[in-house]
Amino acid sequence: MKEKKRNKLTGMLIVLISAVIVVTGIALSDKDGDAPVKKSGFITTEKRKETESASPGRFEEVSRIEQNIEITIDYNDETEATEKDETTTTKKADTSTTTKEYEYAYAGFNPGLADMDVAEWNLILVNRDYILPDGYVPKMSEAVKGSGVNLDERVAPHYQQMYDAAKADGITLVPLSGYRRVSRQKTNFENKIQSYIEQGYGRAEATQLAAQIILPPGTSEHNAGLAMDICSLDVSFENTEEFKWLCENAEDFGFILRYPKDKMEVTKITYEPWHWRYVGVGHARIMNEKGICLEEYLAMQ
Ligand SMILES: [Zn+2]
Repeated sequence: MKEKKRNKLTGMLIVLISAVIVVTGIALSDKDGDAPVKKSGFITTEKRKETESASPGRFEEVSRIEQNIEITIDYNDETEATEKDETTTTKKADTSTTTKEYEYAYAGFNPGLADMDVAEWNLILVNRDYILPDGYVPKMSEAVKGSGVNLDERVAPHYQQMYDAAKADGITLVPLSGYRRVSRQKTNFENKIQSYIEQGYGRAEATQLAAQIILPPGTSEHNAGLAMDICSLDVSFENTEEFKWLCENAEDFGFILRYPKDKMEVTKITYEPWHWRYVGVGHARIMNEKGICLEEYLAMQ
């Protein structure tokens, strides 16, 4: 009888803890708008060590659970889909410039078409002003073997190299979120517009407001598979060893901190210490040396 009671109590406790984790995640939304802020904490090397010594082999499971929570909240239109199936649905990359009008032409938001034919593909500019061609899907491969998180296949090997080098230094650069489907972002964006309409705003104004919080579909570097959210989606990530390592070494693998604190006026995106974009080693070094962001660098060319 006592045993039964204890089991019941343990069960209730687990349900309560799970609820707290999920609610905490739902309550917050991301600055670059295409991912949620995962307030429940990030996976640092220290945490990993702690977890591993407490329970060997547990880390992978914890990491997987955290990722699933993120994916479920972020991509509520396709909760049954996992990141894995993107490998199987990979289509041939459409690198041709198209004049076809973008499918999601929102009132009050008229970006130009991103130039996919630039001499160097790693300098493709995707932001609030430049949208990916309709239906663009990069050819992809896994960023880290076994992670289930994909990047453009031209970027993935560089992430793997960076991951391995960090690992050798005792740092784990957990690949949280790489490529994301435009359709998922579209749903998130539409939901946000809808919530403003419900507050009494007209459609055009609701769209403008939504665009301040969520990047409109097709304007995120994640839709192009060129960027990775690493370890955490919380600004406190800047105080970790992982972030420090990235600041010192990422350029040697061609990655840059895409939305720096002092460039918010230019990028139109709030500071995101976790979002790292591949541009290639040479360009990354020059940008860091000059202290300029991608928009400024391209303007100089
Ligand atoms: Zn990101």
